[in-house]
Amino acid sequence: MPPAQAARHTVAGWGMEQGLPHNLVQSVAQGTDGFIWLGTWEGVVRFNGRSFTVFDRQNTPGVELSGVLSILPEADGAVLFGTISDGVYRYHRGRWEALGGADARHLSVTALLRDPSGDLWIAAKDKLLRLLPSGQLLDAGATLGLPEVPITALRLMADGTVLVATEKGVYHQQQGRLAPWNDSAGWVVRDLVDDGDNGWVVAADDGVHWLHADGRRQHLLPGERVDAVRHDASDALWLSLSAGRLVRLASGKTERIAVPGQVSPALLIDREGLVWAGSTDGLFRIDEGAARGLTMEDGLGSDYLRALIQSDNGDVWIGHSEGLNRMRGDLISAVRLLPGTGRDASVLALAARGLGVWAGTYNKGVLGVDEAGRVVQQISLPGTVQPLIRSLLSEADGSLWIGSSEGLYHHQSGKLHHYGLEEGLPGLAVHALYRDAAGVLWIGTDGGMASLDKDGKLQAWLPDVGFPARYVFDFLGDDNGDLWIASDHGLLRKRGLDIAVFDHRNGLPRDKVFRVIDDGAGHLWLPSNQGVFRLDRTDLIAVAAGARTHLAVQVLDHTDGMPSSQGNGASSPAGWFTRDGELLFPTAGGLAVIDPQRVDGNARFRKIPVAIESVVIDGDPQPVSSAYSLPAGVDRIAVAYAGLGFRAPDKMRYRYRLEGFDSDWLDAGSRVEAIYTNLPPGKYRLRIQAMSLPLDWENTNRGGEAVLELDIAAPLWQRPWVRWLSAAAVLGLILLLAGWRAASYRRGQQRLSNEIAARTQELSEKNRALEQADSERASLLQRLEHQAMHDPLTGLPNRRAGDAYLQKALQRASTEGTPLNVALVDVDHFKQINDRYGHDAGDQVLRDIASLLQLRLGKEQFVARHGGEEFLVVIHGISLQEAVAALQELRIRLARLRFEDVDADVSVTVSIGVAALGPGQTDGRTLLAAADRQLYRAKREGRNRVLS
Ligand code: GH3
Ligand code: MG
Ligand code: MG
Repeated sequence: MPPAQAARHTVAGWGMEQGLPHNLVQSVAQGTDGFIWLGTWEGVVRFNGRSFTVFDRQNTPGVELSGVLSILPEADGAVLFGTISDGVYRYHRGRWEALGGADARHLSVTALLRDPSGDLWIAAKDKLLRLLPSGQLLDAGATLGLPEVPITALRLMADGTVLVATEKGVYHQQQGRLAPWNDSAGWVVRDLVDDGDNGWVVAADDGVHWLHADGRRQHLLPGERVDAVRHDASDALWLSLSAGRLVRLASGKTERIAVPGQVSPALLIDREGLVWAGSTDGLFRIDEGAARGLTMEDGLGSDYLRALIQSDNGDVWIGHSEGLNRMRGDLISAVRLLPGTGRDASVLALAARGLGVWAGTYNKGVLGVDEAGRVVQQISLPGTVQPLIRSLLSEADGSLWIGSSEGLYHHQSGKLHHYGLEEGLPGLAVHALYRDAAGVLWIGTDGGMASLDKDGKLQAWLPDVGFPARYVFDFLGDDNGDLWIASDHGLLRKRGLDIAVFDHRNGLPRDKVFRVIDDGAGHLWLPSNQGVFRLDRTDLIAVAAGARTHLAVQVLDHTDGMPSSQGNGASSPAGWFTRDGELLFPTAGGLAVIDPQRVDGNARFRKIPVAIESVVIDGDPQPVSSAYSLPAGVDRIAVAYAGLGFRAPDKMRYRYRLEGFDSDWLDAGSRVEAIYTNLPPGKYRLRIQAMSLPLDWENTNRGGEAVLELDIAAPLWQRPWVRWLSAAAVLGLILLLAGWRAASYRRGQQRLSNEIAARTQELSEKNRALEQADSERASLLQRLEHQAMHDPLTGLPNRRAGDAYLQKALQRASTEGTPLNVALVDVDHFKQINDRYGHDAGDQVLRDIASLLQLRLGKEQFVARHGGEEFLVVIHGISLQEAVAALQELRIRLARLRFEDVDADVSVTVSIGVAALGPGQTDGRTLLAAADRQLYRAKREGRNRVLS
């Protein structure tokens, strides 16, 4: 077994398979915004913890970004890159520029530094240059009297003066000169860092020189060539050796960190305290994980572990696919279960047998093993083929309960008593056995659970009659009489006859959990197929009482150092809390050892910076900025973001809210994009928050936030002055009409009084004309109203009408309690139809599609033109599944449609996103947003499909 110290560091790596453009990472730094930047032979790379964004000469024209040896993050958020043959480049908010003019091109830049006066110091092999803010480039080496020697590093001292490390010692900027510093003259210096305490650590070809502030000198690793050095918060030194190894030096002890490949001088300690190292095999992150793994390399007979148990003398017995191991202290030894045969028995279950164990096997029955690891007893079950044994329980009287795939057996004084389905067992496969404080035996099966009381009465809890789970994997009794149950439907708590369920609806990441372990410190630990979950007892109480809805679940998995995230649980015990206070779990990749004390220490809760990665408006990527003024008619706004926490990027969760539009936060889970379509004009603020598990959004100290301001201009007809003008025009028209009518009346009246008798005929004619004018006016008003609510091209209700209709439909659905579905239908690649056959043909296609939609959906459903080539469909009274089926049919019919104005063989497909009224989708906006998300997904997944 490796020394415990070494095992504490977990190494995670990324190479070309994960998106690096080249495996040799030459330089690494963290930007002020939190991104990790890398220099490689194939460009500059930005890393957000999950994915890499590459900038190279192909995708970044005019910029030569290969061979990036130095990276300088600047306070304003910019990042500078020193290249091996093309000088210095600056990146800021999506824009690149070359620095220093023609003189600075083709420089081979090895180090960069910004001094407090704003000058940029550039080390170009054996030349030292200074780029002034004015743009002037000076030969600082010559003016300051620096000999021409290769420069390896530039550092700033606390007083603002500069240290220049060279292959002939370190020079210090003093009174307008660069003078030899300390007694470094004879050192071939590769790197240096301050030790956080006004001292300096110098990496050189003859080891490390630590010049402490109090004058003490240390010469460490003499004879070792050291390329890079970093100093961490625990006063340890991290060294990249020329021999290609990474070592950690703490309290006089050197520890080698197993980083694959040959490490490069690229070395960084980030703001979370993580160590990043570049090597010939990629990028590596070193962390002190709360978990570690023991595998076959440490002496286990298999990495596929199934059960484990600790004896009263401290020995840990580990059952696996190839047999049994015993771990005594750090020593793992093999136990032969079938001496003299080639293969050993596959072990599924374990129980104490004095200081030895009972081992339940795959097909060899139950084997009794003594303290020394010898098989001294064998119990065979009836039948020609031995059943699988998944659980065992030994009693104080020496008897043994055996949970098998063929029911439960009680082995007592050499006799076997069987309980099967006839005896009332709810399922034949017995996965868990537990004796509670009251003496009741609890039996977990594949078909519910059962209890066997002291009088021999068997009682079953069946999934079909109220019991919430099917598979029951483990039990744990509480002092107050509660029984915790690990099941395939979450963690259950049985209190009297009442069973409470804690599952994904309360924030449990997976519903299937294999074991319940109490660490005595207020937590329950549940292994699953996706890591081990830690639950707070106070949380459980609060959730059960309805005082809060979500558990703050801490998750430990392979990213924390577990050998695998997949726990093994259909056999038992699937975890153990040792007498030393460690948690052991059998996994599919070895033994997971968790130090519960370290779990919170590692979390070191801090605000996670949230960065906007891209903003795409109507398909066009925009330079990233914190505020956008957008023209009227903007349709789709997509914002990609990232929480820059690198310790557990898989555990990052997000929520966002568009102030001015969303009434509440939208839970985005681990999604990293927010999309809004068809926003009305106005001013908005998009707030995006990130938090690492366990989630606790109320705790604002833990969540970081990014804010984006959006200002969408109103279209012409919505601007106030246009509205005033048109209102005035309408008013004028009405007055004119009224005036004309009144005048006609007056004229008529006059003539009437003058020639009553003679002009009766004429008068009636006038009256008819007036009536006609009246009716014309009424029909004009009607037409106007129709126009206001309908789309002239297709005759369908327009978007305004659609919104109004949806509003009413929602009211109806909520009063009547009927289902309501909303679908967005978008024509695929419609632009191409326009481009190929002309706009008129496109219009005809839209009209044809509109007619088909109306025809197929009938009167019961509602169709509106939602936007250009997008239609809104509202479907009442049927379930989401039925609606999706109807829309599928519609989609297929649409695809068969042929159009007159375009080529005979041209077909048009549509993508459809559907959402139903339900939790989180209770109003028009959230419902439409949900449908739009599905539509977007349908587009992404290849179009011509219906997704819900
Ligand atoms: P996608 O599959 O991603 O939806 O591709 P698309 O080309 O359909 O989508 P996009 O949103 O890029 O383009 C929609 C096009 O629809 C652009 C616009 O010119 C066209 N369009 C919108 N309204 C009308 C209209 O009334 N008549 C015609 N002929 N074209 C229209
Ligand atoms: Mg389209
Ligand atoms: Mg569209």
